[in-house]
Amino acid sequence: MQIQADTPQLLADAKNSILFTAVRPELVMERGDGIVLWDTAGNHYLDFIGGWAVTCLGHSHPVIREALVRQSSSLVNASPSFYNKPMIEFARLLTEISCFDRVFFASSGAEANEGAIKLARKHGAVNLGGAYEIITTVNSFHGRTLATMSATGKKQWEKLYEPKLPGFRHVPLNDMEAILAAINPNTCAIMLELVQGEGGVHAVDAEYLHALRQICDARGIMLIFDEIQTGIGRTGKLFAYEHYGVQADAMTLGKGIGGGFPLSALLVKEAFNLFEAGDQGGTYSGQPLAMAVGLAVVNEVINRQLPLNAEIQGQYMMKRLQNAALQYPITNIRGKGLLLAFDLEDRTAHEVVAACLGNGLLINAPNPSTIRLMPPLIVTEADSDQMMELLCRSLDQVDTFRK
Ligand SMILES: *Cc1c(COP(=O)(O)O)cnc(C)c1O
Repeated sequence: MQIQADTPQLLADAKNSILFTAVRPELVMERGDGIVLWDTAGNHYLDFIGGWAVTCLGHSHPVIREALVRQSSSLVNASPSFYNKPMIEFARLLTEISCFDRVFFASSGAEANEGAIKLARKHGAVNLGGAYEIITTVNSFHGRTLATMSATGKKQWEKLYEPKLPGFRHVPLNDMEAILAAINPNTCAIMLELVQGEGGVHAVDAEYLHALRQICDARGIMLIFDEIQTGIGRTGKLFAYEHYGVQADAMTLGKGIGGGFPLSALLVKEAFNLFEAGDQGGTYSGQPLAMAVGLAVVNEVINRQLPLNAEIQGQYMMKRLQNAALQYPITNIRGKGLLLAFDLEDRTAHEVVAACLGNGLLINAPNPSTIRLMPPLIVTEADSDQMMELLCRSLDQVDTFRK
């Protein structure tokens, strides 16, 4: 591997040419393999961010390369106005492995959720006398388009880009009274994550979810699961709804479904096959390269039983964290499968993340008090052992943890 001498120049160019939207560390990522990333200065990092819960097969997996080479040699883009073979095969696979009957493809999670929001409004218009309100939860995350930001229940976004899209009500998660009070004749859908990811890894209660299903059935309200972060094996089952035995009317997938390639999907039950020609679309809907990659990635996840590995490795990591909690003030260890989190005292999460980066470990802080772990689904016990060692070393370095 050639080590580049020009990292400072690259960083200078980045600062002069890339629109500022985020504070990023002073490094440039260049290469990935399995659970490890390398930067242009030759440093390597154990990746427990996993491309933001995306790289389910790890970095640079050969099935992705092979799918891209194979598909790009025959058809890159036929236009969204035609069917193509990988699109049909992939849609068939997704309907076979889930409880849903039909699929609309897009490129990002937000776009899949936009499709779900439009479908909910269509359902309201067609079946509920014009009802258009969608109930979502406080601390939820549904994306960064204006509609999905309006759906998102993130306090810091309340005043951003006003006026938001009207028609969303936010209720606290797992609060039955609050959602009963919010439901009204104008309600067309309830949309929620089964484990809030960006909100800090908080799972929906089974009893609450079963009750929501009954209310939705009784009232004709559409129930939508945003499984963009929880789907494709992340929580220890192929889809998180399998933990609960509750089915939605529609579900959105993103992140892991492409293993790093931009891809998302909206899956619906036949009763919600409601769009008319022209109601919904997109230039890259069903794009052959994305379809070939998605098909290869999901098949690999299933064939290698990665949801099971997520379950087993998640439990192992949970045990290691509980052990560490005897020595370090880490609390509220929680999560399902390989979507785990714990809390830190004194809002030190960002400091801990920075210390970890310095020690060659990538972890994420969804808020100043929480650390979230979302490694590739191929993670091993040895990887977790190494992660714990680097994490504890980093905790030792952060001031408040010094004894
Ligand atoms: C990441 C995420 C989204 C948005 O996906 P993008 O691909 O960033 O548009 C939506 N919902 C959930 C639950 C997510 O985790």
